[in-house]
Amino acid sequence: MAAILLEGKPVAEKIREALLAEISALMAGSGKKAKLVAIEIGENAASAVYVKNQKKAAETLGIEYELKALPADVPQGKAEDIIKELNADDSVTAIILQFPVPKSINANKLINKISPEKDAEGVHPRNMGNILSGNYRIGPCTAMAVMELLRSSGVDLYGKEAVVVGHSDIVGKPLALMLLNKFVTTCVCHIATGERGNLSEHVKRAELLIVAVGKAGLIKGEWIREGAIVIDVGINRVGEKLVGDVEFDKAAKAASMITPVPGGVGPLTTTMLMRNVVELFKNQHSE
Ligand code: NAP
Repeated sequence: MAAILLEGKPVAEKIREALLAEISALMAGSGKKAKLVAIEIGENAASAVYVKNQKKAAETLGIEYELKALPADVPQGKAEDIIKELNADDSVTAIILQFPVPKSINANKLINKISPEKDAEGVHPRNMGNILSGNYRIGPCTAMAVMELLRSSGVDLYGKEAVVVGHSDIVGKPLALMLLNKFVTTCVCHIATGERGNLSEHVKRAELLIVAVGKAGLIKGEWIREGAIVIDVGINRVGEKLVGDVEFDKAAKAASMITPVPGGVGPLTTTMLMRNVVELFKNQHSE
């Protein structure tokens, strides 16, 4: 079977066009400008790439982008005070904390300080909690990107057997809830599943397999069920190349649909961040 490639770029492009029309009308109607503020603590190569992509994506939509670069040794209290100031600043629509942060910083505590009304990444406990009830417009960008990719591919999720590998707070856990909300029968695998040697057994049952771990080659091609839909969120540098967590070439022979890495979920993630910002702006300026 030749698998269909689930590419993120064309989906992202369509959403971007709709967002541009929406935010332009909202800004014109309210007479206000949308603004996203990114907080970066210390310098980091990965974070620098995200910042560059976010700035470009924001500016394409006419959204102002400001980077607050704090030194690596900034005290926790000082960083919290900066967030408080941004929360109180009416000209700021949305706030994002860039990862990774230095070990001296308690990232969870910082995230909890961001007002849920300005939570660009959808990671504040209140926004996460809304996913539980299925009543959410804001959500963690990567998990939202996976759901958007599935929606745009026309896959009927109802009753599907899904396996999510990885249970991080920003990808695996919210995704499992989002799938449950769509009546997907969802199994979540994590480090203990792998340690007991049960990972292959679960993966082999998956009609829908979503992997977000960060270990190249973790998922063997021969584990993929015939006709499965495979979403590989993982990004790993192997030599000069970027690869996912799934052995792509072998997996593509069994799968009906599969994401390339790079080019699958990645291009949609920043677009989902922008969708969150537009949603926050709408909430802040609607009557
Ligand atoms: P993370 O916080 O490190 O979480 C990785 C998860 O994988 C954890 O739940 C971990 O479990 C689990 N895990 C580790 N080893 C395992 C094993 N052998 N078997 C099963 N599960 C295992 O990472 P993340 O932030 O979710 O990101 C995951 C990957 O996605 C990374 O490669 C990252 O670069 C990529 N990513 C891509 C995008 C995108 O836009 N495409 C966005 C975000 C992240 P424990 O916590 O129990 O160890």
